[in-house]
Amino acid sequence: MVNDCTAVWNNCLQTIRRNVNNQSFKTWFEPIRPVRLSNGALTIQVPNKFFYEWLEEHYVSLLKMTIRQELGDTGRLEYQILMAKAGQQPQMHDNQIRVPMPPAAGKSKFKGKNINMPGGMDAGNIKNPFIIPGIKKLKVDPQLNPNYTLDNFIEGDCNRLARSAGYAVSKKPGGTAFNPLVVFGDVGLGKTHLAQAIGNEVLNSNPTKTVLYVSCEKFTNQIIESIKNNAVNDLVNFYQLVDVLIVDDIQFLANKTKTQEIFFHIFNQLHQRGKQIILTSDRPPKDLEGMEDRLISRFKWGLSADLQVPDFETRRAILESKMMKEGVHIPPSVSEYICYNIQNNVRELEGVLVSLIAQSTLNNREIDIDLAKKVIRNFVKQINKEISVEFIQGLVAEHFEVPVEKLSGKTRKRHIVVARQLSMYLAKKMTDQSLKAIGDMFGGRDHSTVIYSCKTVQDLLDTDMVFKDTVVELEKKIKLTLNDR
Ligand code: ADP
Ligand code: MG
Repeated sequence: MVNDCTAVWNNCLQTIRRNVNNQSFKTWFEPIRPVRLSNGALTIQVPNKFFYEWLEEHYVSLLKMTIRQELGDTGRLEYQILMAKAGQQPQMHDNQIRVPMPPAAGKSKFKGKNINMPGGMDAGNIKNPFIIPGIKKLKVDPQLNPNYTLDNFIEGDCNRLARSAGYAVSKKPGGTAFNPLVVFGDVGLGKTHLAQAIGNEVLNSNPTKTVLYVSCEKFTNQIIESIKNNAVNDLVNFYQLVDVLIVDDIQFLANKTKTQEIFFHIFNQLHQRGKQIILTSDRPPKDLEGMEDRLISRFKWGLSADLQVPDFETRRAILESKMMKEGVHIPPSVSEYICYNIQNNVRELEGVLVSLIAQSTLNNREIDIDLAKKVIRNFVKQINKEISVEFIQGLVAEHFEVPVEKLSGKTRKRHIVVARQLSMYLAKKMTDQSLKAIGDMFGGRDHSTVIYSCKTVQDLLDTDMVFKDTVVELEKKIKLTLNDR
């Protein structure tokens, strides 16, 4: 009974709380949901595989002890993994993996067992590769990750069009001009999230609709398999059942002539019957290579909307929403630092957050800038250099079109003075150098000159909007150029 499992789990939580620190408890135990208690086994649901592995690695004895205390010596714990961690390979969208807990003290081996996902590759299964077994009425498992919603897809200038088109489509699938809706953009910018969110929203508003998400890779495999088994028609017929078809990463159709042909057929049939098609791609349809023209021209029928790199504020908002979801608190200066340094990829932003939580739990230390630096260094290969004062001088000199050596000279010409003071200001702000060290690098000026420069620049920033914009741009450029190296 549900209540039993909740009660048992609550007891377990009390024991666990006494044995781990608060941060760990919040991070690793609060998100767990008890699912059922049957035959002496308590099943708990964890958000993803990472979570499961973490628990197994770090808390296995505590969990065992706790379960034994609650359920006796024969008590067992089983995990249910709600869904794949974002960004993993398609097969990880297979949800509901049950993992039996190892009986004795031996080290566990991850034994995933699929309970409701077909995979769809067995010959006997091909007719309805996504059917949920055991349900009489034809029901297609949409293959959606319920964690991807429109609500938690943070809006910014970078995604406004795609997001609102997605919203419109979800309210009237097949009934807008956005058919197909093609969402394109670089890796890690939220294509999969948005496409799945639309699917989830359709089902939310209209549970009777048949929605199906499929990665291009899986789709291709199904086709290969169906050709082998002489079952292409079955596959095509199956796809005709769908009201909303989401195909992720269609760039992988490139140079697969047969797959393209079948996809073309499915596309036409669905489109003709007013069904919604949502596609994602890592580039705009016109730039897709190795693709038949007739297919590309179909892609252009609807709306192509791109996802761009989110600006600083949007990155902040995304990170904060992830922090809330994970139930962690990170000082604002640290989240600012992260967003400053991880610019081009939301997935990396998340990765840094997860690593930070892991590192801080593992080493039992506070999340601070030093830890963030360490994690980011591991994460972003490009950031292998600290920003140096010379680097800033070079960029500022270039921007103001003054020879860089003038910054260390004695010239009092107005624009050179501004460039010099601004370089000092940026050096103070963006490097770890002391005032004295900075002064030294500007022709041996003393630290009070650096303080004076910083103050002058700050005053200008407070009063001169144009100047402020210049400085913001320069800071961005310094970070960006650094990442590009
Ligand atoms: P893509 O498919 O473009 O490579 P994903 O959809 O897998 O990217 O996104 C990578 C990660 O970034 C996902 O975990 C997703 O939730 C997150 N993400 C991207 N954009 C946003 C956003 N605007 N708001 C919230 N999370 C986002
Ligand atoms: Mg993707």
